Amino acid sequence: MSQQGYVATPPYSQAQPGMGGYPTGFGAPPPQSHYGHYGAPAQPFAPQAAGMKFPKSRTYFRQVSSSFPTFRYPPLPADSAPAMSPYGQPPQRPYHSMPQATPPTQQITNQMSAMNIGGYGRFSDTLFPSPNPIQSPQSPTSSAAPQPFQMSPPTPMGHAPLSPQGPQLPPLSACPPMAASPPVGVPPMVMPNCQPDSLSSSLSVALAVGSYGGQVPGSQMAGPPAGAFPGAFPGGAAQMAGPPQKKLDPDSIPSTTQVIEDDQVKRGGQLYTTNLRGQVPPFVTTSFSVQDQGNASPRFMRCTTYSFPCTSDLAKQCQVPLATIIKPLASVPKNETPLYIVNHGEAGPIRCNRCKAYMCPFMLFIDGGRRYQCGFCNCVNEVPVQYFQHLDHMGRRLDMYERPELSLGSYEFTATLDYCKNNKPPNPPAYIFVIDVSYNNIKSGLVKLICDELKTLLDQLPKEEGAEGSAIKVGFVTYNKILHFYNVKSALAQPQMMVVSDVAEMFVPLLDGFLVNFQESRAVINNLLEQIPDMFSDTNESETVFAPVIQAGVEALKAAECSGKLFIFHSSLPMAEAPGKLKNRDDRKLVNTEKEKTLFQAQRGIYEQLTKECVNQGCCVDLFLFPNQYVDLATMADVPAHTGGSVYKYSNFQVQVDGQHFLSDLRQDVKKSIGFDAMMRVRTSTGFRATDFYGAIYMNNTTDVEMAAVDCEKAVTVEFKHDDTLSEDVGALIQCALLYTSISGQRRLRVHNLSLACSSQLSDLYKSCETDALINFFAKSAYHAMLAQPVKVVREILVKQTAHMLACYRKNCASPSAASQLILPDAMKVFPVYMNSLLKTPALVGSAELSTDDRAFHRLSVMAMGVEESQVLFYPRLIPVHSMDVASEAVPSAVRCSEERLSDTGAFLLENGQCIFLWLGQACPPDIIQNFFNVPSLAHLGTDMSSLPELDNGHSKKLHSIICAISQQRSSSTKMVIVKQKDRSEMLFRQHLVEDKGLYGGASYMDFLCYVHREIRQLLT
Ligand SMILES: [Zn+2]
Repeated sequence: MSQQGYVATPPYSQAQPGMGGYPTGFGAPPPQSHYGHYGAPAQPFAPQAAGMKFPKSRTYFRQVSSSFPTFRYPPLPADSAPAMSPYGQPPQRPYHSMPQATPPTQQITNQMSAMNIGGYGRFSDTLFPSPNPIQSPQSPTSSAAPQPFQMSPPTPMGHAPLSPQGPQLPPLSACPPMAASPPVGVPPMVMPNCQPDSLSSSLSVALAVGSYGGQVPGSQMAGPPAGAFPGAFPGGAAQMAGPPQKKLDPDSIPSTTQVIEDDQVKRGGQLYTTNLRGQVPPFVTTSFSVQDQGNASPRFMRCTTYSFPCTSDLAKQCQVPLATIIKPLASVPKNETPLYIVNHGEAGPIRCNRCKAYMCPFMLFIDGGRRYQCGFCNCVNEVPVQYFQHLDHMGRRLDMYERPELSLGSYEFTATLDYCKNNKPPNPPAYIFVIDVSYNNIKSGLVKLICDELKTLLDQLPKEEGAEGSAIKVGFVTYNKILHFYNVKSALAQPQMMVVSDVAEMFVPLLDGFLVNFQESRAVINNLLEQIPDMFSDTNESETVFAPVIQAGVEALKAAECSGKLFIFHSSLPMAEAPGKLKNRDDRKLVNTEKEKTLFQAQRGIYEQLTKECVNQGCCVDLFLFPNQYVDLATMADVPAHTGGSVYKYSNFQVQVDGQHFLSDLRQDVKKSIGFDAMMRVRTSTGFRATDFYGAIYMNNTTDVEMAAVDCEKAVTVEFKHDDTLSEDVGALIQCALLYTSISGQRRLRVHNLSLACSSQLSDLYKSCETDALINFFAKSAYHAMLAQPVKVVREILVKQTAHMLACYRKNCASPSAASQLILPDAMKVFPVYMNSLLKTPALVGSAELSTDDRAFHRLSVMAMGVEESQVLFYPRLIPVHSMDVASEAVPSAVRCSEERLSDTGAFLLENGQCIFLWLGQACPPDIIQNFFNVPSLAHLGTDMSSLPELDNGHSKKLHSIICAISQQRSSSTKMVIVKQKDRSEMLFRQHLVEDKGLYGGASYMDFLCYVHREIRQLLT
């Protein structure tokens, strides 16, 4: 049990009061307890005696069930997916015999010495080390950086302890990419050797990255190769002794598109059954189906690694974050079984008395079925009489496969009144549409667009499966400097407007008739929506308020005693005299200074207060912004960012150009499945616990994740830390419980369970890593950190940690090889390209050329992302469409995201989950242009094209089918942008070519890899 070191708060993590104390995670009542069991008084819990790994009863656990959580199910054919009826009466599954689980592999204790890594050791206690800038050389991520990063003198040849002798090393130019060819001779003095890992296992990949090696002090450089980070990639190897060497082949460095394709080939189309502990799922980019056999689907939970290190020392040593990204309400594809809803009646869900974990496959029934031992805290509990069931000869309950909570990783319980506010069943939620009717929005036609759309959209409010209509009520507010509420009661012939001009003391002037059922009030509402654009058509009012608007929404929900969502459509900096008035504080001189972080910090005061009120009321705020200039997005988006809300931004909105994109965003947002008034709790088995949480969430204490709402796209990233030793036998168990109100007003508990492996071998951890999940974690933790630390420091920490993780692998897991080789764990071999992409994102790049609002927007949009979304954001898909096979159904293979892959005569799609660009080379053949656009040449295309005509020819149809396939994979709508090579708008597109040097700073992938390699070598010597 380590109380110091690793559990210390990292310098840029959120404060964790009580972190050092074990019992905080177990049932401690939150200061404000609104909900029954979440706030139930904590059971006294005696921490385990130091060194005592298992309580006595654990012996029984191990003997009887032989590592219960790892049991294997016989594989099920795809067509025999369980046909359980949704309410707890599944048919018998064909599981007649359960093969004994294999005994835990005997692991040899790894004799790992502490890494001797120079000055870095001082950082090793914390995830994100102290804000000391890298002394030298200049980091490639530093945006103060048009100067070359200077290489420190290279390690003299033969100095590297693991280095085989020179003559065995092939010259750079002879190095085949990642091939295990036999080494060939090389002049001994060639530094930049690169050598395939001649001993390479499936775990490592040896890379050719030598070219900076020739930095003998004082040597002349020939200048950077074209396109490289200025000076960052000094020296073609030509100046060096030995045979002439060519520029490093970009194909020789690990390719994300290849890695994605390999996984698709290997695991695509498969049925992924979740029966094994610590099983690494297919990539998010791979198409596969999931069958729940005791662990949550990767659609709900994905981990940075599926094998946790047994001790905190090992965790510290490797610095690989232990985290899971939870998307609790993720959409389940139609071909997979939806979650079962378990109803235990008035008794409610069965929970461990001590840690309050919910009944799940990790509970071990003993004593003939009369008692069960909690897999999380080991407490032995009585089985309630009504829940009793006999055990079979294997110690399993006879009804195991009839009860989702005993055999599945994910399921829902209907919650009892104990789980409801004030012990009353909740009312159905309400959606309030709040429209800024100031001059800009009227003039642009936005108000009319919104009103017209709502007339049809409100027919499509989400409803419970099987329900006739939606239970969600709707209400309408318009505003500029003052607010207008509308009475749309069905009995009225005409809607009535009520004006509140005292914005300092916001109240809702009507209760009856404000929130109504759309079906019942359709005529009045349509009448209102028809009138609103006309009512304000002559407005000259350009000033707006903002905080009072949110206040009004919360007050309305309070009065109606329900949760809900505000849809706010707003265009300008709220400068009218009112609470929450904002001023322009966009000072780009702060970029790259200590104070840069203030640009991203929200103005406190009223917005902080509103956040709390919204969370308490279950009021989610979605913000649709239409700015023509700076609007202090960091502050305006603060309430949405803590209430499970979404922010959309349409700069310089024009109905013609952006109207369709906005409407499809709005439609998706209104229709998407969502839960309200949510509270999430992540419980773990003994030895580790959740310490840090990132997402569109609010935390009032260290354990309860509060979300005014959570929809199917929102993910929470949770980091874990050790507080004791983990056992290889038991593994690491995680249970995420989400209490929420459904769209029909039912209180539900959704439970996701996941069991991970534990190992004392770091190689197991590296083998089980998931790069996509890692980068999600790093992005969120860094974006959180940049509120408290200079952005430059955050970038440096990211680079250092990248090097550290890879150096630790190299030192402890890879076969001995020359220090000049870069060896990456197989599961992380494209991690550097993602990390480099993260460093170049608008939020982190530190360029005064980028708009502050854009940077804040990017930062906030990533904070609630799931792994699918962050993966494609950090490595967009670039798809050639000039040479596609029109006859084939498939989406053409993506190519590396680099300018080098473009051609003047080509056409390419690039998608990153937010935009789809169609890039047209300037020499793109006229027949392609004709087929796509029905115009004779590129010159005939306008510059502001935002849509692609659907034409009656094979190429056009194929292109649309690709775009359609892409859109279907994305949870949010994607904006179409058509870009001609050399046009001004091409800059927008080029920003996303993440393997290239950044437009606003930041290294190319190749340069970054070289830099990281050099850092690794420094760490190892
Ligand atoms: Zn327990």
